[in-house]
Amino acid sequence: MTQIISYKQIEDAEGFRPESGMNFRTNNKNYSIVLMSVRDDAPYEDKISEDGKIIYYVGHNLNKRYCDGKDPYTVDQPLFFPSGKLTQNGKFAKAANYFKDELQKPEKVRVYQKIKKGLWSFNGVFDLVDVSQENSNNRKVHIFKLVLTNESVEDFQNEDGYLPEDNRIIPGHIQIEVYKRDKGQCVKCGSKDHIHLDHIIPFSKGGTSKDAKNIQLLCRRHNLKKSDKVGG
Ligand SMILES: [Zn+2]
Repeated sequence: MTQIISYKQIEDAEGFRPESGMNFRTNNKNYSIVLMSVRDDAPYEDKISEDGKIIYYVGHNLNKRYCDGKDPYTVDQPLFFPSGKLTQNGKFAKAANYFKDELQKPEKVRVYQKIKKGLWSFNGVFDLVDVSQENSNNRKVHIFKLVLTNESVEDFQNEDGYLPEDNRIIPGHIQIEVYKRDKGQCVKCGSKDHIHLDHIIPFSKGGTSKDAKNIQLLCRRHNLKKSDKVGG
């Protein structure tokens, strides 16, 4: 299941407030963090494959103050600041290129996806395997390719020490649909605490993530009850 978490839980799990979407090894971590959104009003057109295993993450714009008064959305996304230091795009691109040149293992990237204001899901640990430059509305943007790993995320836990086990991604629009339909509460008891997106027919038994009919909201207690039963 995918756990729905608050921004505060991301902050607690990571030990800092990810203010921007791209966080390359912030605070000397040995992995990176990206925040993404696939909602219609999202600032960048990030894409997730149907099965949730591949993400195409759009690089971020240069800060306005470096854009000579132009709209950042019309300026090429640079790899370097005027000072010559790498931007976040530059750091991620360097890691992707080093991986492609077999100079390093793929960079590990934890992906958090915004469902709506203040609500996030943890999509799993991804490998950063590629970067390309593409033209988008007459300017150049970077597209980073991330592939879901099977790695567990020992470090990620909320205040209950709960670890999400299943990284199979439910598409953002399905998450939003389910969240609205179930009114943000457990369908069994109405609790709003520790809400999870639950596959009614488990993913492992062929249940789909792509149809809201197979997804429901459960509180942690009912979610655990259910996995006991399913797990036997
Ligand atoms: Zn419940």
